[in-house]
Amino acid sequence: MSAALPEEASVVVVGGGLTGLASAYELARAGVPDVVLLDRDSFGSGSTSRAAGGVRAMFSDPVNVTLGARSLETFRDFPARFGQEIDYAEVGYLFLLSTPEAVTAFEDAVALQNSLGVPSRMVDVAEARRLSPLIETDGLLAAAFSPTDGHCTPESVVLGYASAARRAGATLLPGRAATGIDVTGGRVTAVHTADGSIRTGAVVCAAGPWSAEVGAWAGVDLPVTPLRRQILVTEPVPGLDPHTPFTIDFATSFYFHREGRGLLMGMSDPEETPGFRLTRSDAWLPRLGEAIERRAPALAGVGVTGGWAGLYEMTPDHNALIGRARDVEGFLYATGFSGHGFLMGPAVGEVVRDLYLGREPLVDVSVFDAGRFEGAAVRPELNVV
Ligand SMILES: Cc1cc2nc3c(=O)[nH]c(=O)nc-3n(C[C@H](O)[C@H](O)[C@H](O)COP(=O)(O)OP(=O)(O)OC[C@H]3O[C@@H](n4cnc5c(N)ncnc54)[C@H](O)[C@@H]3O)c2cc1C
Repeated sequence: MSAALPEEASVVVVGGGLTGLASAYELARAGVPDVVLLDRDSFGSGSTSRAAGGVRAMFSDPVNVTLGARSLETFRDFPARFGQEIDYAEVGYLFLLSTPEAVTAFEDAVALQNSLGVPSRMVDVAEARRLSPLIETDGLLAAAFSPTDGHCTPESVVLGYASAARRAGATLLPGRAATGIDVTGGRVTAVHTADGSIRTGAVVCAAGPWSAEVGAWAGVDLPVTPLRRQILVTEPVPGLDPHTPFTIDFATSFYFHREGRGLLMGMSDPEETPGFRLTRSDAWLPRLGEAIERRAPALAGVGVTGGWAGLYEMTPDHNALIGRARDVEGFLYATGFSGHGFLMGPAVGEVVRDLYLGREPLVDVSVFDAGRFEGAAVRPELNVV
């Protein structure tokens, strides 16, 4: 059991993944007193510690590009800012493209990224092979590369933020589940736990795949659906280039990046159905094997040492839900990142702080309002794998 439950808080953050921790840190650092964060388990134990650790600004939506680029600045400076090493490998992201439609879409996205200061570029097939020597180029038309993207270790980022949030004065309580929210007269007034209640005028829902339930307590519709995704880690790969980028075969979604002397790899499974299952299953392996045979045959004989399953937190348009509830004063949310919430965490923490304080955030996130699915046109993020 962690420290005693405070009776009152300025703001209660529900969820201690990267989104919640970065929000608590930024709020406390900005001088908000009595910031309390609850996680029912240990910090990062939800999706954050199960992420592949990929960090990038290569998106098709300008808000995602901005949030990714801002977060990259934090990941790059992490040891200096937080006193915590996170094994940040600035090796770039390489999207391999094999249809004319994908090439056109990435050309457009790269132009957008460049206009926002991201140094991504289209590369030809020969350069793609030079950058990522394990790939087989059969059927490829082109690739898109951004050298300032990369990957880092989620658990270390969690540790850095949790320590910094505590130093900044936030009260972080692992092992404490929120069990309900009181709304009185259209305003948040309390958060409940099994050990008592906290009076508060503000809640930040950062509960990842579990956010729909937290929203429902306050009568706020957060359309977030859990979807299992799996990862495998391999034995050492002989001759592995340490600069191997985070490489993604866009057509199949098969991806890999260096992990120690081996590789971490994953792929979506179109037959996966929504749910909170965290058991590993072999059903996706034949499809993964085919993708490896075709795109990285050199890996076909490399042994697997382990792996895990985690949950993507999907929304209908694969874009996040970030904002203040329209009808419940004091209810803020940052969730539904649809598989790219780790790389956005640092910037989202800043946005949540600004939404709470009534300041203009670093980018206008009103397009990510949770009410956008009520009839209005949505703009889906295309670069999600
Ligand atoms: C296999 C896999 C690979 C991924 N790879 C990447 C990647 O390379 N790059 C990337 O950017 N993203 C990646 N993601 C997505 C990323 O992990 C998530 O988008 C991100 O971690 C979301 O963070 P979060 O803090 O919002 O949610 P979470 O980390 O899920 O945190 C939510 C927290 O809320 C807590 N909680 C839930 N209910 C309650 C309650 N009632 N009371 C108190 N606490 C509660 C949970 O215990 C949990 O700790 C990947 C995900 C998976 C599964």
